[in-house]
Amino acid sequence: MNADHAVQLRLLDLQAADTALAQLAHRRASLPELAALAELEAEVTDLGNDVVDSETNLADIADEQRRLENEVDVVRTRAVRDEQRMQAGGLPAKELESLQHEIISLARRQSTLEDELLEVMERTEEADRALGVLRERREVLDTRRGELTSVRDEAFAEIDRAANLRTTERAMIATEIPADLMALYEKAREHGGGSGAAMLRQRRCEGCRIELSGSELSAVRNAAPDDVVRCENCRRILVRTDESGL
Ligand SMILES: [Zn+2]
Repeated sequence: MNADHAVQLRLLDLQAADTALAQLAHRRASLPELAALAELEAEVTDLGNDVVDSETNLADIADEQRRLENEVDVVRTRAVRDEQRMQAGGLPAKELESLQHEIISLARRQSTLEDELLEVMERTEEADRALGVLRERREVLDTRRGELTSVRDEAFAEIDRAANLRTTERAMIATEIPADLMALYEKAREHGGGSGAAMLRQRRCEGCRIELSGSELSAVRNAAPDDVVRCENCRRILVRTDESGL
């Protein structure tokens, strides 16, 4: 393949733009804020589950409290009714005795239920506190997430600005490169992990860093300036300059 030597030199500028674009893409994908945000999201998810558990626990305790309160009401109503029947008088001795037993047993039951109610109310306070701690933690995480997101977005914007400039520059250079050379460059670039053209500097391919052998060097020396030469080792397009050591 042949191409003006000046055009071949432009391949190095094209390569520089492509390398810069690859570096920018890498920087964009590996911003430390991205890893920190992913970690934070995982913690927010766990915390969300804990909040749901804690709310469910509180609801269960509230159910239990209502059940106990209802039971206390039933016991109290029955005790009041028993008292009224006693005070009304005129009951046979046997019935009176059983009524007295019942009143004593109701009072005992009420006292037990009220102790349980107190215990449930203590558990409510404790569960409320636990939920409060979780909600505070969530607020802290939300704030941190907001900060990280804005740092990330600023970095994205800066990287994207730089990438846009490079993309424009690359497009301008590409218009100077003939289609067949461009196709060769793209193919070599794909094969070369993002690098398709390399300078020959001091008899060394800057792509694979291997020094050309005697026969390779003489082949390059004998090539016309517009011959497109390639590294025998890495197949990149070798661009000759004053520094090639030929
Ligand atoms: Zn090479």
